[in-house]
Amino acid sequence: MNLDLAQARADTPGVNHVAHLNNAGASLAPKPVIDAMVSHLRLESEIGPYEAAERAQEAIERGHTAVGALLNCDSQEVALFDSASRAWTMALASVPLRAGDRVLISPMEYGSCYLSLLHLAKRHGVRLEVLPVDADGLVSVEELRGRLDERVKLIAMTHVPAHDGLVYPVALIGQVARQNGIPFLADACQSVGQMPIDVEEIGCDMLVGCGRKYLRGPRGTGFLFARREFAEQLTPAMFSLDGVEWAAGSYRFAPAARRFESWETNCAARIGLGVAIDYALAWGVEHTWPRIRQLAADLRAAITRIPGVTVLDRGQERCGTVAIIVRGWDAASVRAELQRAGINTWVCLENAACVDMQMRGLNSLLRVSVHYYNSSEELARLCSVLESLTLGRPMRVAAS
Ligand SMILES: *Cc1c(COP(=O)(O)O)cnc(C)c1O
Repeated sequence: MNLDLAQARADTPGVNHVAHLNNAGASLAPKPVIDAMVSHLRLESEIGPYEAAERAQEAIERGHTAVGALLNCDSQEVALFDSASRAWTMALASVPLRAGDRVLISPMEYGSCYLSLLHLAKRHGVRLEVLPVDADGLVSVEELRGRLDERVKLIAMTHVPAHDGLVYPVALIGQVARQNGIPFLADACQSVGQMPIDVEEIGCDMLVGCGRKYLRGPRGTGFLFARREFAEQLTPAMFSLDGVEWAAGSYRFAPAARRFESWETNCAARIGLGVAIDYALAWGVEHTWPRIRQLAADLRAAITRIPGVTVLDRGQERCGTVAIIVRGWDAASVRAELQRAGINTWVCLENAACVDMQMRGLNSLLRVSVHYYNSSEELARLCSVLESLTLGRPMRVAAS
């Protein structure tokens, strides 16, 4: 863990105000991201928004090339959106699916993705199949192989779910999908910026990511990677000016993933996303990831020693999310007590991962999610509040 923590914290103004352990929800942005966005907003107000966009053209386009550098793909294979859910539903709606076609998913899919699939099943007769999982919460590759036939038209799986520290071996899934020529859509919202991601290695045709979470980018940013050959077979479910090339009274779809993009965008947010990714690349995700994993492992070990607090995370490999329940306390009250002590966490309800939460009989849990800029001291403070809750003692921890 020889990462310059003092530098990471000096770059993050928010750490002076709060112990932020809600990075799976949205991280504290580093200073360069905040500065770039604020200065673009100011420029828009001073010289005009279109004119500011012309002047900042390079920084705006960096959004695409930075995602390309992060994921190991071409920048034309990247479409930017105002949320990852939008990116995901655009991908889903653009894959031609007809009544009787089968779509295979894991129980870990994010609420809004699962709901879109349910709706597709209801409205268009697509057959949605949730694959069974083992005690680690994982879909077995053999199980997946056994389910395949010519009616399977899409495999959609989450790399890291929103409510559990579990890391899915998506590259194994991708291998099976590729061998059988079945489109594979990976949801990397929780994993981009947290751990190294290479779309070639994963072998996915499409992958969706989120800007505000582990990438530490602005809210209202998400992206879709779509492999060129795959994307160019698709008709976007919706498109606008940027999605087409218009000439001599006729149009054709823009190359690769760009066909999915709309013209209007929040330029400051797009600039912020590019800067956030450049900032992450400067640290090196391969260098920050071991620290995240270690901090979370230390936290799980410390929490396990507190009687009455249970860690729910499964999986062979685990990441920065630590899901817990506290005996005698509902998750919302634990979160409120922690917030009073200056510690941010989040409550996951059933809709964070409808199928898995339901299968496990969980209607809520407390999600603690660490990033590399968090300190061991912050984690110790969290543990001492949890301990005092289980002992029913009045809180002595003051907000710093
Ligand atoms: C956050 C999240 C999403 C959705 O991202 P939005 O940008 O909020 O739409 C999808 N999948 C997973 C696993 C997530 O954690």
